[in-house]
Amino acid sequence: MIGLASKQLKTRKTKEQSLSAANYVCSACSSTEVFIDSTRGEVICSNCGLVLSDHSIDMGPEWRAFTADEQNARQRVGGPVDWTKFDQGLTTIIGRQNVDASGRKLSSTRRAQIHRLRKWQIRTKVHSSDKRNLAVAMTELHRISSQLSIPYSIRETSAVIYRKALRKRLTRGRTILGMIAASLYLACRVHTVPRPLEEICDQIHITRKELSLCVRLILRYLNLKIPHSSPVDFVHRFGTELNLPGDAKKKAIDILHDAKRERLTIGKDPKGMAAAAIYVASILTGSRRTQLEIAKTARVTEVTVRNRYKEMVEKLNISTT
Ligand SMILES: [Zn+2]
Repeated sequence: MIGLASKQLKTRKTKEQSLSAANYVCSACSSTEVFIDSTRGEVICSNCGLVLSDHSIDMGPEWRAFTADEQNARQRVGGPVDWTKFDQGLTTIIGRQNVDASGRKLSSTRRAQIHRLRKWQIRTKVHSSDKRNLAVAMTELHRISSQLSIPYSIRETSAVIYRKALRKRLTRGRTILGMIAASLYLACRVHTVPRPLEEICDQIHITRKELSLCVRLILRYLNLKIPHSSPVDFVHRFGTELNLPGDAKKKAIDILHDAKRERLTIGKDPKGMAAAAIYVASILTGSRRTQLEIAKTARVTEVTVRNRYKEMVEKLNISTT
């Protein structure tokens, strides 16, 4: 029922948005201040009272409900379309009660017929191998993304990426887990909240080789616009994991901006750059973390942190003593 309620909220919201988004200008006094009367479906100029628009369509339900029971009884629509469900949440369910539309009991022959229909409805729901693959994959997606605490918007993006990969037959010969992990990894990058490849591998127990293979496969055959992850994208995440105060994170971001200006970030692993900047910032702000701690969090080697740190301090003239 949560899905149903959210559907209503969604339509309400879009209606209000569309009304306020349409910039009304009064044709009589050119005032832009309008009053939107949603109960009458009118847009009225607040200055002179001219009705600018009427008969606007109410997208909400035409019934009212005062209790949860009433709401449930009157609800006639399903939840919103959801790409993270294999059937987008658009299923047909043949009810269990053997009654017709007016509530009368069905005759025995009719009951047998409905029983068979119900059985085949369940069987054909996931009949093709693609559908079966998708059903398994979407279950995996839900499991992995809650394990990695990935927000819903990113889940949805990765579901769309996976569907595209499936349609292009890229999943042939690859494991479902690997392909799902790859689409999650790419979706995180699309939303500019990148996760290190290694972190995903550790959490869901696939090899780095398998995951990067799937990622490359998707990148090669799907026309995705994926921004290069910037070191700045990692600072907040690593900083939080290291329990760094806000000023240290801010300092690290400032250092990275300077480094970018000095063209130090070109061709360098963004995780390593972020790690080095965090190291410098942690010293400068007096909340020092060791190179080892930072390297572990960023999943790079200590040597990388040390090398990037040296370059950074030298080229940007930062004194850490
Ligand atoms: Zn007016």
